[in-house]
Amino acid sequence: MSRIAYVNGRYLPLAAASVNIEDRGYQFSDGVYEVCEVRGGRLIDECLHMKRLAFSLSELRIGMPMSLSALSVVLHEVVRRNRVRWGIVYLQITRGVSRRDHAFPPAGTAPSVVVTARNLDLASAEKMATDGVSVISVPENRWARVDIKSVSLLPNVLAKQAAREQGAREAWFVDRDGCVTEGSSSNAWIVTRDGKVVTRPADHAILKGITRTVVIEAIAAQGLKLEERAFTLEEAHGAREAFITSASQIVLPVVSIDGRPVGNGAPGLVASALRRDFHRHAKTS
Ligand code: PLP
Repeated sequence: MSRIAYVNGRYLPLAAASVNIEDRGYQFSDGVYEVCEVRGGRLIDECLHMKRLAFSLSELRIGMPMSLSALSVVLHEVVRRNRVRWGIVYLQITRGVSRRDHAFPPAGTAPSVVVTARNLDLASAEKMATDGVSVISVPENRWARVDIKSVSLLPNVLAKQAAREQGAREAWFVDRDGCVTEGSSSNAWIVTRDGKVVTRPADHAILKGITRTVVIEAIAAQGLKLEERAFTLEEAHGAREAFITSASQIVLPVVSIDGRPVGNGAPGLVASALRRDFHRHAKTS
């Protein structure tokens, strides 16, 4: 079955789907995106993803290309046409097509909209959660507004590639103070020796993950103690547990950081319980 993409009003086979070379997404990374998990054809936490999309667009002064209800119809239609049972739907909105000039294009230039969807391998995702994953650390070198979900991801691309080349799943960015900001495509968490769950506050230095928001609720529901504060790489090395969260990976235990085992080197109880909680949440949301 060939995959189908939505491009500016049309549903097309992927091979026939294209954007103009003067699209500002292509020329300047002048656009935003969202990735939503799909289960049984349903979009998990769609409302929260659409809220963050509206925030990203507004911060960059890109117009919302259609109503949220129309956008929802498109997202579901792409999921349906690609027969996604468990996977992701990807949405990208750019400032549109215009003769190349750094400044904004003329008023009235229509934003471009692309939507794709695909299945993920549920069995291999669950295996990764059972085994745990490794992360490496890399210096933070991104711009100061990574709370905007911009398609401008070059530092994230290079960080992820560095992780792959070192046999790791993820790279954690570490700022000048030695503190972990987040992963190249996930939020970063630790559990301290005395059982406190720690993650960086959602300021401009991290993307406020939707999974992060849901996991914070699960932490409260479990009666665990949460500390939203920066933590150093050194503290992570000495932590009882570590884990990462994102819409496509849910909660993944981290068992080693820069080649050093976290805790006893096996997935932690808190991370595994929070993953179970997220599964429960996804069934009912
Ligand atoms: N941080 C970064 C840099 C990301 O790219 C992502 C997801 O792609 C996240 C955090 C997690 O966000 P979410 O839970 O909304 O997927």
